Amino acid sequence: KKFVYSFNEGSKDMKDLLGGKGANLAEMTKIGLPVPFGFTVTTEACNRYYDEGKKIGDDIVASIFEKLEELENTTGKKFGDVENPLLVSVRSGAKISMPGMMDTILNLGLNDQTVEGLAALTENPRFAYDSYRRFIQMFGDVVMEIAKTKFDAIFDAKKEEHGYEFDVDLTTEDLKEIIVGYKALVKEEMGRDFPQEPKDQLMEAIMAVFRSWNNDRAILYRQLNEIPDSIGTAVNVQSMVFGNMGETSGTGVAFTRSPVNGEKAIFGEFLVNAQGEDVVAGIRTPQPIAEMAQAFPEVYTEFTRIAELLEKHYTDMQDMEFTVERNKLFMLQTRNGKRTAPAAVKIAVDMQSEGLIDKETAVMRIEPAQIDQLLHPMFDAEELKEAEKLTKGLPASPGAATGQIYFNASDAETAVANGAKAILVRLETSPEDLAGMVAAEGILTARGGMTSHAAVVARGMGKCCVSGCAEIKVDEEAKELTIGEYVFKEGDYISLDGTAGDVLKGQIKTVPPELSGDFAEIMSWADEIRTLKIRTNADNPRDAKQAVEFGAEGIGLCRTEHMFFEEERIPAVRRMILADSEEERREALKFLLPYQKGDFKGIYEAMGDRPVTIRLLDPPLHEFLPHTDEEIKALSEQIGVPYEKLAKKTQELHEFNPMLGHRGCRLAVTYPEIAEMQAEAIIMAAIEVRKEQGLDIIPEIMIPLVGMRKELADVKATVVKTVEAVLEREGVKFDYLIGTMIEIPRAALTADEIAEEAEFFSFGTNDLTQMTFGFSRDDTGKIIKEYREKGIFDDDPFQSIDQVGVGKLVKMAVELGKQTRPSIKLGICGEHGGDPKSIEFCNAVGLQYVSCSPFRVPIARLAAAQAAI
Ligand code: ADP
Ligand code: MG
Ligand code: MG
Repeated sequence: KKFVYSFNEGSKDMKDLLGGKGANLAEMTKIGLPVPFGFTVTTEACNRYYDEGKKIGDDIVASIFEKLEELENTTGKKFGDVENPLLVSVRSGAKISMPGMMDTILNLGLNDQTVEGLAALTENPRFAYDSYRRFIQMFGDVVMEIAKTKFDAIFDAKKEEHGYEFDVDLTTEDLKEIIVGYKALVKEEMGRDFPQEPKDQLMEAIMAVFRSWNNDRAILYRQLNEIPDSIGTAVNVQSMVFGNMGETSGTGVAFTRSPVNGEKAIFGEFLVNAQGEDVVAGIRTPQPIAEMAQAFPEVYTEFTRIAELLEKHYTDMQDMEFTVERNKLFMLQTRNGKRTAPAAVKIAVDMQSEGLIDKETAVMRIEPAQIDQLLHPMFDAEELKEAEKLTKGLPASPGAATGQIYFNASDAETAVANGAKAILVRLETSPEDLAGMVAAEGILTARGGMTSHAAVVARGMGKCCVSGCAEIKVDEEAKELTIGEYVFKEGDYISLDGTAGDVLKGQIKTVPPELSGDFAEIMSWADEIRTLKIRTNADNPRDAKQAVEFGAEGIGLCRTEHMFFEEERIPAVRRMILADSEEERREALKFLLPYQKGDFKGIYEAMGDRPVTIRLLDPPLHEFLPHTDEEIKALSEQIGVPYEKLAKKTQELHEFNPMLGHRGCRLAVTYPEIAEMQAEAIIMAAIEVRKEQGLDIIPEIMIPLVGMRKELADVKATVVKTVEAVLEREGVKFDYLIGTMIEIPRAALTADEIAEEAEFFSFGTNDLTQMTFGFSRDDTGKIIKEYREKGIFDDDPFQSIDQVGVGKLVKMAVELGKQTRPSIKLGICGEHGGDPKSIEFCNAVGLQYVSCSPFRVPIARLAAAQAAI
């Protein structure tokens, strides 16, 4: 078995084995681009490293040295050679890119001898010693895990000693002294000397990259992005080229199109006389790429040619890393670039019209979860006009954010956990800040460019970010943000406009977004492609209208309980619950009837002639009664029912397991008059709206929590009797449907019997998941978190449907239901209806529609199209 591949042995299709970086380095080598030569140690070698107790097998070591020899022959340089030393970078690279999460070491191969060779060879001693000190620092940090700050202290002390302002002021002699200090630090921390043998350096570095697969931030990143832990990382060993050889050298990163708004123009940054991660680390604020055209005109032309070629080759927007060594261009990385949702949409639509991709591919290019960003509010234009603009930074990631400022990740996290909206303010962010960035509404940094860590990560998360804001002073220690004359302290409000790059004073109201142009275009393609219908869960006209604007084709679940809580009605609801006799109960219900009818009319009107499924009352009745003694006393005075009676009734209704208690169809079985009132309201509303608006409304009445055919038959009889009586009384006739939720495992198991009564099934996968697992969905959050951490669950089953277990019940119910009633309507109305993975499943098992909350409707439209491709 082969564990090591030279760059000329691989291709872009070998990502599983070579990782994304390795596969693309191989591909670029194959198509003849200038890539420094090297080799890739495979992801399988990484997995073996872990399987074999964190050791690299002898056979793999032998292959590595074989490829190293090949590299020496190709470059004409030799590892450890004083005359002409080979130096390499050791670079991590998993199948799925995890920017900045793992470690990379540059300049490996330098030691006390080779550094002199390098100095002589390049006639640039300063450069050579600068490279050596960087190497010791990186190796010390990554391999030996010595705190970076300890190296920084030595470095800064030297600068201070001479009163230098910039790193470049340090002389060769200074650097040599720094190196002495670094080596002493290593000795002190590790009890051994800094390794001088390049082969030892190499093996230690490779193992450190394997180890970095399991550092905390890499693990967190994989969790957030649902990347499996098992895929491992590859390691790329590549001969070094030097961007820090003076004014004719440099390094940069660039995208073939803007990752912020999708504009078709090279977008990026570079730094003259700099190496490696200087650009992304945000230590110096780099220059925009256009200025490279002035600094290196020929190289720039060559670069734009390659950029274009790569984009055509991969038929996608590329994110490239490159280095210029003494006016010669080298490509160090390319990958499909991460982008904001607006950019993703524009690029997909543009590339389709350029003939680069077809509509299906364009639709596949948008991540459903990502378009959430487009649906989110922007600042209210009026309030924005009034707002005081404090300063401007780089528009690193679009959107609007308002919140209280916090100066480190953990403070931001704590504040958010306590219900605050946080803006994370940092000098610059690093991968350690990830958790705080997740929690925050937006991110503001003083340093760093458009491709800095903060910018890249924020765009990936769809989080508003303003970076490189030079005019702000951030004192992370004192927790103070100074902008001009203002000093903001922890907890003060500011607002960020990530689209413009503005920082604004105080809180600003936000408004819903605009959904036209490219977005509408791509959604129309999705609609052409998908076969699943998309409905929404809405129980008031406002949500219903919003959902229709987002493209909902009906209501899959209209809950009726929320309507019972409104101020004028809750007394009647309580009177109904507290009634001693059926007569009294009917009195109270009579009061509620016109309200319910009004509710349904509003919803029908909002939906036009789209189908609406209305569910009969579902929750346990005690939810409508007060619980504490004080509340009971207050209510007793308010409605004039004696305290004792009220307390007793509340006591009677108390249940140990209300979710498994007197709710759903069980209510309608025991108090048919409630179902009668609701059925009458549903039908009367339909009759009136049909008359008033000429809409062809076919009500769908849904009976919840059914487990047995007879249960359903009982409630259905009540509903049918009522509906028929109303139709006859009003002298009209039209169709209506009666169906049920499938949310109790027994219902799924006996779906053939239940389909004798039900004209439609709607899978209530929240309850179905809860009951199939026996996991209370309101209490199990903590357990599920730990189960995920331990790998017992890959996903939270309440977010993404458990296809193996719960999914089996769904599949079974679909088949049994169709067996009895081939024309049966099938849909889903649980939370899962808005989850792309679950939507794919729903499509595969043959459901006709999914129903989700209004804001997830566009996501569902797109996911349904992707499921159909
Ligand atoms: P990451 O995955 O975090 O981007 P990389 O492996 O891409 O890490 O390395 C970071 C940077 O180091 C690169 O962008 C490049 O500038 C520099 N680098 C890596 N390998 C080399 C090399 N062989 N020669 C010169 N610079 C290199
Ligand atoms: Mg990189
Ligand atoms: Mg339910």
